[in-house]
Amino acid sequence: MLSNSLIELDRAHLVHPVASWRGHEKTGARMLVSAKGATVTDAQGHQLLDGFAGLWCVNAGYGHESVIEAATKQLRELPYATGYFSLGSEPAARLAARLAEHAPGDLNHVYFTLGGSDAVDSTVRFARYYWHSRGMAQRDQFISVANGYHGSSTVGAGLTALPVFHAGFGMPLDWQHKISSHYAYRNPVGTDPQAIIDASVAELRAKIEEIGPDRVAAFYIEPIQGSGGVIVPPKGWVSAMHAVCKEHDILFVADEVITGFGRTGPVFASIEEGIVPDMMTTAKGLTSGYVPMGAVFLSDGVYNTIADGAGAAAVGHGYTYSAHPVSAAVGLAVLDLYEGGLFDNGVRMGQRLMAGLQSLQDHPLVGDVRGRGMLAAIEMVVDKDKKTPLPAAAAPAVRVFDRAWDNGLVVRAFAQGVIGYAPPLCCTEAEIDAIVERTRLSLDQTLADPDVR
Ligand code: PMP
Repeated sequence: MLSNSLIELDRAHLVHPVASWRGHEKTGARMLVSAKGATVTDAQGHQLLDGFAGLWCVNAGYGHESVIEAATKQLRELPYATGYFSLGSEPAARLAARLAEHAPGDLNHVYFTLGGSDAVDSTVRFARYYWHSRGMAQRDQFISVANGYHGSSTVGAGLTALPVFHAGFGMPLDWQHKISSHYAYRNPVGTDPQAIIDASVAELRAKIEEIGPDRVAAFYIEPIQGSGGVIVPPKGWVSAMHAVCKEHDILFVADEVITGFGRTGPVFASIEEGIVPDMMTTAKGLTSGYVPMGAVFLSDGVYNTIADGAGAAAVGHGYTYSAHPVSAAVGLAVLDLYEGGLFDNGVRMGQRLMAGLQSLQDHPLVGDVRGRGMLAAIEMVVDKDKKTPLPAAAAPAVRVFDRAWDNGLVVRAFAQGVIGYAPPLCCTEAEIDAIVERTRLSLDQTLADPDVR
């Protein structure tokens, strides 16, 4: 059990990411102390099913001895080696090669980062260098999609299109442009998939014309928008957007920080979309959250253009901890687990999760159930026909989060009354069923709250 003094230390000194600082001073932290499989234990000894895999990252589940052993062995043998210049280490080389085998098409070149935000930052740097190498440095404008999330760094936060990451921070930057989201549940063009695709294609074309086709460097998408509330595009949307980019020779960047490593079924969601991005970012499931690591995949074309552009000079982009050997060793051990059955289990459990959550569609609070594989969300409404959101002042998703926590389930509370799910791929059938049952109970309790509607 944790002493209250630890909570006080946290309150006094630890600044929490994406939290209300004043709110946190009042509530203090909910601390976790241990975890195994898909279950986490909090400081009060209360066990919970982790329906969100930490921050949609612990894809393999907690406490795998093989991962712990791989990290320990690497810490003993060689805890650090720089990847700078032409130095390196065995696990980094092996991991890059194995990842290239899993990546779609000719994404054969892997640049390691510490997480997703610096992976996105790296793609912006690489895109600029790519166009500089082709003698078109004026291609310096970037487009992304409303409701998208591409990290919290100074550059990525501007590609991100969520107000809380912009307001007060001077974001977005003037070279960062947006088009509307495909958000089928609340789309002005209605719910017809083809109408949504056509509208997005038209809007992207218009945006490119507005900026100037010879000014646009790259376009960013998430195969499923994550932090915006698990917003799934209609089938064919991603490939339609890819085709527009190819018409104009614009780099297409797929941000697979969440959707990588079996989260939606395939190893990467781009594979199912039938596209090969020019660059692809990933993180989270790469090391299953055990240690930090992210990656950028570069196509042969992007890699060779930058390499030729730099010639004998260094491509001046790097982090002290790029290709960290301990992270790479963990990545290899986690890949073994995925390939050894977790990817397959994730596909089966994803079908069960989606079917289970669909069964909640009859609940009075449930307006929309969406997702793919082990990535899903429920959007709550007051009136199903009118799709009226629950009053924001009642913080409905946070209420469900609190109820679920008390019922032994961790979910994610998004703005607009959206509850998110991204359980570890190692879940059993019983655990998936418990996630659904505990959600129903938590929704019932929220419905009974007099001031929530
Ligand atoms: N891109 C996407 C699509 C993400 O979901 C995230 C994180 N949730 C990031 C980038 C940033 O990753 P990180 O938090 O590891 O910096």
